[in-house]
Amino acid sequence: MTQERIIETNSPEETFALGETMGKAAKEGEFYTLVGDLGTGKTVFTQGIAQGLGIEEPVTSPTFTIVQVYDRGRMPFYHFDVYRIGDVEEMEEIGYEDYFYGAGLTLVEWGNLIEELLPQKRKEIRIEKDLEKGFDYRKITICEVI
Ligand code: ADP
Ligand code: MG
Repeated sequence: MTQERIIETNSPEETFALGETMGKAAKEGEFYTLVGDLGTGKTVFTQGIAQGLGIEEPVTSPTFTIVQVYDRGRMPFYHFDVYRIGDVEEMEEIGYEDYFYGAGLTLVEWGNLIEELLPQKRKEIRIEKDLEKGFDYRKITICEVI
């Protein structure tokens, strides 16, 4: 069964706060994917998660490094951006399984691009704009297989 929750935000602060709430609630070993077009707020949301985990270092997109590890929070945070991954072999070179099945929280931006590698038990987070509802409006859908 799939459970879907929709949250609407109207400012970057609200999206950050949602991330922070989820970061505070996160349990070790959890796995999130994060999908959304450029400029929808993936980084804002991820910065909120990091804050919720008690991470004080600045969080940026690991677009060129694929993975960034933050280990000064309540638990390790493995932040992936797989947008530039060519094929799954690259993920194997990185040793992705140590992270995906590690003791921290994993968040994979553009996780849909490596569908075959994703753990079954995960939360999928999708951020979308709807310009008819305003420039700062975002619809955030959290989907979980339970
Ligand atoms: P992405 O990482 O998805 O490319 P960013 O998080 O870097 O996107 O940027 C999102 C941009 O949208 C920021 O400039 C932010 O201020 C703006 N923004 C406006 N409204 C919202 C909102 N409701 N939620 C998140 N960001 C928003
Ligand atoms: Mg980003």
